[in-house]
Amino acid sequence: MSNYTTQMDAARKGIITPEMEKVARDEYRTPEEIRNLVAKGQVAICANKHHKSLVAKGVGSMLRTKINVNLGVSRDCKDYNVEMEKVMAAVNMGADAIMDLSSHGNTQPFRKKLVEECPAMLGTVPVYDSVIHYQRDLSELTAKDFIDVVRLHAEDGVDFVTLHCGITRKTIDQIKKHKRKMNIVSRGGSLVFAWMSMTGEENPFYEYYDEILDICREHDVTISLGDACRPGCLADASDVCQIEELVRLGELTKRAWEKDVQVMVEGPGHMPMDQIEANMKMQQTICMGAPFYVLGPLVTDIAPGYDHITSAIGGAIAGAAGAAFLCYVTPAEHLALPNVEDVKQGIIASKIAAHAADIAKKIPHAMDIDNEMAEARKEFDWDKQWECAIDPETAKSIRADRAPEFDDTCSMCGKFCAVRSMNKALAGEHIDIL
Ligand code: SF4
Repeated sequence: MSNYTTQMDAARKGIITPEMEKVARDEYRTPEEIRNLVAKGQVAICANKHHKSLVAKGVGSMLRTKINVNLGVSRDCKDYNVEMEKVMAAVNMGADAIMDLSSHGNTQPFRKKLVEECPAMLGTVPVYDSVIHYQRDLSELTAKDFIDVVRLHAEDGVDFVTLHCGITRKTIDQIKKHKRKMNIVSRGGSLVFAWMSMTGEENPFYEYYDEILDICREHDVTISLGDACRPGCLADASDVCQIEELVRLGELTKRAWEKDVQVMVEGPGHMPMDQIEANMKMQQTICMGAPFYVLGPLVTDIAPGYDHITSAIGGAIAGAAGAAFLCYVTPAEHLALPNVEDVKQGIIASKIAAHAADIAKKIPHAMDIDNEMAEARKEFDWDKQWECAIDPETAKSIRADRAPEFDDTCSMCGKFCAVRSMNKALAGEHIDIL
């Protein structure tokens, strides 16, 4: 029987948990440093007590930037086996977290299978599952029904839950009055908004927040405070709806911490590049350094089919400015449920963004691998280059497809290869170009 409830409770009691030790080893920090950051809420170790297969990781702006992969079946793509294959492929490609966003069929067996087998942090959005779980119309669900689904996910072993606690009845008037271009684009946020509109009641995730905190405390579930009003297009970025919700998320962060419940705060969305850094700083101040989990940000609205790139640009800027956790975006965003190749493209793009941010933030040893790659390039050590590459498969196949005549070049410049010429020149050797 452990003498603490959550990782935050342990940290505040001065206890260094096995999970904190693991995070400290991974992040080149001392266990005491990690304990201190968890105690302050600046690092979240999302680790439900029932998730025995978890390999713990820390999420915080001063740690390596983590990436999340959204998966789960929908009415149009409902094969749970295919989804499980995607999960394991995503973990092998470096996903730090998997969010199961299933919105069809019997979701609990898949969730339990994930808890049994998946070593990555697991997240869910219980409001999606509520309609599926009860098989009733949204308007017929009660506040208690929603809270019971949060409890169910906590008991099943989910490490973090996205809860849209930050919108209230006041938001209904604000959205109507403000006339945003894209209204609400958060799936969970729109469900909560629709439920409030249809029932005339207050947001249950806000009204019964204390009850939710008790559930999360018991099982050590981290709350990921959803941003229902995240901008869904550049024109809506940093508007009053987004900022008003962020202020409430700051208040809710404080209330969670008072009960030793760990928190992450979700963020934008679509956003022009020049607004990203200011948004990161504002979140850090309002939410007192709680880890910021960004959904993009997508820096332009006009690239469907390439939104893994628009979000990687925003994610790199956000990460460098303090975001701790990037939600991947695939080329299928805004278009369809991602297939295996889309998932791969999304993961690679977010890994590049996260790594670039880590270098800018001077995360210990983040740049070591880049230095190794530079050495390997200078030496024309292709095997070493594949070892250092984020996606060795693609790199290898491109080289093989257009192989050069000589191994100490590539087919781009051939004997005009600058690296080859400089190696030879500095070694005092003759340089043959023709
Ligand atoms: S041939 Fe050109 S592109 Fe290829 S390695 Fe040499 S300098 Fe780089």
